Amino acid sequence: MKEGKIQVLDSPIAQVALTTLRHRESNSIQFRSAMEQLSRCLAFLSGSWRQASEIAVPTPLETTKGLHYDHPLCLVPVLRAGLGLVSSFELFYPEAVIGHVGLARDEATLEAKTYLDRLPLHLDEHEVMVLDPMLATGHSAGAALDLVKAKGASRILFISALAAPEGIEYLQKAHPDVDLITGVIDRELNDSGYILPGLGDAGDRLFGTL
Ligand code: URA
Repeated sequence: MKEGKIQVLDSPIAQVALTTLRHRESNSIQFRSAMEQLSRCLAFLSGSWRQASEIAVPTPLETTKGLHYDHPLCLVPVLRAGLGLVSSFELFYPEAVIGHVGLARDEATLEAKTYLDRLPLHLDEHEVMVLDPMLATGHSAGAALDLVKAKGASRILFISALAAPEGIEYLQKAHPDVDLITGVIDRELNDSGYILPGLGDAGDRLFGTL
């Protein structure tokens, strides 16, 4: 994948999971399980983004070719909803460090305000994956990317389950160097900054706080 590239999941497994996520009658158990399925697909796809080199690996019988990642990885879930993606990424990347950022949306201006920054002090050496299921206006994504770049990160992948065209455009202007993997690109945002057709409030639905 080249710099600033967008990749969209193309799999019936992801489509079926998205259908459960979108359905208004799905309860939080069904919603969480579907988010887990979708995020495993996203995590699997993210493997092709990482830089890796061939190494020699001695099997019990002979030496053959293997692969190892060139850089350490930092996963950055954007609180709250980003937490719903973490376990799937940990499954494939158990060695990853996890930094947390908390961003609250001002419902009047739709601007993002930082209330938590618990990132490693230095991310110069790391590949960084910022996790947030909803790329809506792009404001909180942009703010999260500002925070990881302030720690020196330069090789960054943003991961979302759903993305709005407005959010993608915002991100491409504010952070053209950042790559994006998303489950689907939806139609548009409504006046309150919700994605249409979307799935509602991802944090509320994940954590049952509706
Ligand atoms: N955040 C959500 O949880 N849902 C949206 O549709 C937009 C932002």
